[in-house]
This record gives sequence, structure tokens and C-alpha cells, in this order.
Amino acid sequence: MRTNSLPRVLITGGAGFIGSHLCERFLERNFEVICLDNFFTGSRLNLSHLKDHPHFELVRHDVVEPLAIESEYILNFACPASPVHYQYDPVMTMRISVEGTLNLLNLARRTGATFVQASTSEVYGDPEEHPQKESYRGCVNPTGTRACYDEGKRAAESLCFDFRRSYQTDVRVIRIFNTYGPRMACNDGRVVSNFITQAISGRPLTIYGDGSQTRSFCYVQDLVDGIERITMADKNLFSSPYNLGNDGEFTVRELAEKVIRLSESASAIEYKDLPQDDPVRRRPDLSRMRQAFDWNPAVPLEKGLIESISWYRKLLETNPALFHQ
Ligand code: NAD
Ligand code: UDP
Repeated sequence: MRTNSLPRVLITGGAGFIGSHLCERFLERNFEVICLDNFFTGSRLNLSHLKDHPHFELVRHDVVEPLAIESEYILNFACPASPVHYQYDPVMTMRISVEGTLNLLNLARRTGATFVQASTSEVYGDPEEHPQKESYRGCVNPTGTRACYDEGKRAAESLCFDFRRSYQTDVRVIRIFNTYGPRMACNDGRVVSNFITQAISGRPLTIYGDGSQTRSFCYVQDLVDGIERITMADKNLFSSPYNLGNDGEFTVRELAEKVIRLSESASAIEYKDLPQDDPVRRRPDLSRMRQAFDWNPAVPLEKGLIESISWYRKLLETNPALFHQ
């Protein structure tokens, strides 16, 4: 039984990079926010400014275990997202996507909550179609080292749409393309946080392969704006997923050069082996998102990098140990 009249949102993975920004955004919008996390890659530090907020609650829980929390909205962001972290325990990664999403969908079905699933551009694998539209079915190696994440997220999407068809659960699936910004962990291992932490601590920037592979980088505030629009929109708009990201496309080498220039770093570039199944090109087609929600990514890469560099510099001053993990 609920007596509080504020709308309530359950954010799984809320102590992580994107999740912590979502907690902040929904508190700003006067929601009661329940943040659920097992702290595998997330941190209380990401939430230290919210912990005393009267409408904020933090719950330690693993989404693989069933749970009973009533809320009007469930935002499912619990899952390691960096290749280094999702490959650490690949069987657990698959279970988080499949069993975790199933637990949360069952909860949404019981409570009537709107369910927002954080899916990924990885469902397109190493794409033969460019840019990637939502209708593209992808090219994923089902037995490689990225499969635990890619196939796990594909299975989670399939569960979402089966709940929609079978039980009329209000599901909304977002395919997120590479997102970066403040609060991405120093040891996250993804390219933007690696390059910035390397550049500002004077270590060489590690390019995997020859750096000609491309990615599209979205600043976290743009992503959160899009997620908020999707969460609050009419349920009839969600019979299929939406791409969300920024459609600028850069090679990894260009990114390294920008980070070195913008941080005025003297770091060199060091070339390392390309990981297995590393996608060659990636760029979202954002037409559906723009048309349905009048949404557009507003932060160009250089501006987002400047913001991020300044955030990591402050972290280096206040918490240097984080740079040596
Ligand atoms: P992150 O690693 O910073 O956050 C993930 C959070 O989930 C962490 O707080 C972690 O502790 C928590 N978590 C992991 N396993 C859990 C479990 N079993 N139970 C409860 N909590 C658990 O990563 P992120 O970049 O913030 O990604 C958040 C979500 O967005 C993920 O689902 C990811 O797949 C998706 N996504 C992110 C990106 C991106 O570029 N950042 C791109 C595509 C999709
Ligand atoms: N990458 C790199 N150096 C790093 C980390 C990543 O060159 O220190 C490359 C990686 O091989 C990939 C791209 O940058 O081609 C983006 O990698 P990330 O892990 O950020 O995301 P994803 O591969 O999931 O898009």
C-alpha cells in the first residue's frame, strides 16, 4: 500500500555511470527514486550528493534474484557495459540480461509499471549495414567473447516484446550507442574514459588495432534527455525499439588526437592488439527518435570531451588512488 503521492521510479544499476545521472534527473523531476544496485561496477561515490535527499533510497540487490518493489516505472540499467567488465564473468553477464530482465519484467507485469529496458547498439554486432536503423537485424557472433553481452541483450529484447504481446506489459526498449561523460569509472576500460585518464595522468593512450574503426559518441546529458522523453511518452509509441545516441562518427584515432589536444597532454599513442569481434563501424540512424520525440543530441563531441576532461581532472586531484586501480 502506498501513501506517498509522488510517482515512484525504480532504477536498477542506479549506482553506475548512466544510472546515477538518471537518479539525479528523476529526483529533479520530483519523483521518488529507488536506486537498486549490487555495486559490481557502480559506486556509492556516484550517489554521494543524493544520499540525504528525502525522496531517494538506495537498495543493495542483485537483479538475478527476484524482488518485490512497487513503483510506477522501472528503468532496467543493471548490467556491466564495458567489454572488460562484461567478459570478467560472462556466464553472470548472460544471467543478468536474461534472468535479471525476466525478474524485472515479472515485477512490471504484477505491478503494472512502465518498463524501460537499456538495450545496446551491440545487438547489431559488427554491422554490414551503415548507419544502423532499428529494422537492421544485426551480425553477431553467437559464440565469441562478446556474445555473453550481445546475445544476452538480444534475448532481453525478445523477452520484453514477448511480455508486451502476451501480457500487454508497457515495455520500452532503447538501443543505446556509446555514451560517455562524468562518472564513467576510471577503471571502466571503455575508450573515452581510458583515453582521458591516460592523457591527464601522462600515460600513453592505448589504441586497439590501427585506430581506423569508428564509433559515435553521445554525451550523457543528451542520453538522459532522450531516456526521460521515452519514459514519459505515450505507451502506443513502443511497438519496436528506438536507437539513442549521437550520429557524429569518428575513428578511434581521431578520438585519441582530440583528447590529447583538448587536454594539452604530452602523452604518446601506443598501439595494442584489436580484441576479438571488435565492430569496424558504428553509427546510429536516429530518424525514428527525432521524429517521434522531437529529440536531438545537442552536445558535440569536443564540448562533451572538454566537460569530461575537467571532471576527471577534479577526480585526479581529490581521489588519485582511483587512477591506479
Ligand atoms: P556501468 O557499469 O557504469 O553501470 C552498470 C550498473 O549496473 C553498475 O552500477 C553495476 O554495479 C550495476 N549492476 C551490474 N550487475 C548488476 C546486478 N546483477 N544487479 C544489480 N546491479 C548490477 O555501465 P553504464 O555505462 O552506466 O551502463 C548502464 C546500462 O546501459 C547497461 O545496461 C548497459 O548495457 C547499457 N548501455 C550503456 C552504454 C554506454 O555507452 N554507456 C551503451 C549501451 C548500453
Ligand atoms: N578501444 C581502444 N582503446 C581503449 C579502449 C577501447 O582503442 O583503450 C577501442 C575498442 O577496441 C573499440 C572502440 O575503442 O574499437 C570502442 O571501445 P569501447 O570499449 O569503448 O566500446 P565498444 O567496443 O563496446 O563500442
